[in-house]
Amino acid sequence: MTRPMVLALAALKPADMAQKLHDTYDVVTDIAAASQAQIVLTSGAVGLSPAQMDQLPALRLIAVSGVGVDAIDLPAAVARGIRVTTTPGVLSLAVAEMALGLALAAGRRIAEGDRFVRAGDWASGRKLALGRSVLAGRAGILGYGRIGRQLADLLRGLGMPVAYTARSEKNDSPDTYHPDAVTLAQHSDVLFVTAAGGAETRGLVNADVLAALGPDSILVNVARGPVVDSAALAAALQAGHIAGAGLDVFDDEPNVPQALLDAPNCVLTPHVGSATDEARRAMSALVLDNIAAFVAGGPLPSPYGE
Ligand code: NAP
Repeated sequence: MTRPMVLALAALKPADMAQKLHDTYDVVTDIAAASQAQIVLTSGAVGLSPAQMDQLPALRLIAVSGVGVDAIDLPAAVARGIRVTTTPGVLSLAVAEMALGLALAAGRRIAEGDRFVRAGDWASGRKLALGRSVLAGRAGILGYGRIGRQLADLLRGLGMPVAYTARSEKNDSPDTYHPDAVTLAQHSDVLFVTAAGGAETRGLVNADVLAALGPDSILVNVARGPVVDSAALAAALQAGHIAGAGLDVFDDEPNVPQALLDAPNCVLTPHVGSATDEARRAMSALVLDNIAAFVAGGPLPSPYGE
C-alpha cells in the first residue's frame, strides 16, 4: 500500500520523533518532488508562502510545529481549501522560561559577565558594571495569550506585580490591565513581548513605548521580530533610554542587524524559545496526531482558526 506523502519543510525533533514520521509516511523535503503531497509539515518560522502553495496542487493540510502563523498566508490557504493545524499550549512553558531567562541575563549581565570572565577582564582586575534586579521590579506583558499568561503565572509566583495589555481585557485575570502598550510601559520595569506576530502587531513596540519604559528598564521579545521596531530599540539602547534588552526573535532571521549586535547590554539568542527536549517532543507528538487524524478523516486535534 502506498504511504501518504508529507513534504517536510521543517524537521521534527528530537530524532526519535522524526523517525516516527519517516516510519509512517513517504517524507520528501524537495518541493519540486511533492506535487502529489496533500500534507506539508512546517514550522512557525518557516511557514508556507502562496507561491509554494501554487506548487502544491494536491495540498490539503499544513501541519505547523509551533503556534505562530504569521509566515503562512491564511486567506490563500482558506481559498484553496487547505486546513492548518498548530501546536498550542505545549510550548508555552518553554517560551515563558526563555523570556524570564533573557530578562535575568540582561538585568544581571549574565551573558556580558560570561564574556568578561573568558576575555580575562576579571583576572586583569577590571570590574563588571552593576546589574539591575529583575524580580524587584514590575513586570509588563504585551500579549496576554497562552505564553503571556504562563509567563505571568511564573512572574507572580516569583513575587513580581504583573500588568498586561492585549486586544481585550481578560475578566478572569488576577493581573492589572492597561489599554495600550505605552501605558503598560509606563507601569513596567521589565516589558515582555509575547503578542502574536503579523500586520496588526508590526512595530507595536516603537520609540514612544521605549521612551515610556524608561532608562532603568529592560525589554524582552520572544514573540516575533517585527513586533519591535529594531532600529528604535538599537537607538534606545545606544542612548541609554532603556537599560537592556533580551531578544530571541528578529526581522530577518538568521540575520541580526549590526546596530543590535553593537548595542550595549543586548542579549541575543537564535529563536530558541521552544527549543527544549520536552517542548519539541510534545510539539512533534501533536503534529503527528494532527497528520494521523487528517489521513484517517477524523477531527483534527488542534486546528487553527476553525
Ligand atoms: P496566543 O495564545 O494566540 O496569544 C497571542 C496574544 O497576542 C493574545 O493575548 C492576543 O490578544 C495578543 N495580541 C494580538 N494582537 C494584539 C495587538 N494588536 N495588541 C496587543 N496584543 C495583541 O499565542 P501564544 O501561544 O501565546 O503565542 C504568542 C506568540 O509567541 C506566537 O504568535 C509566536 O509568534 C510567538 N512564539 C515564539 C516562540 C519562540 O521560539 N520565541 C515560540 C512560540 C511562539 P487577545 O488575547 O486579546 O486576543
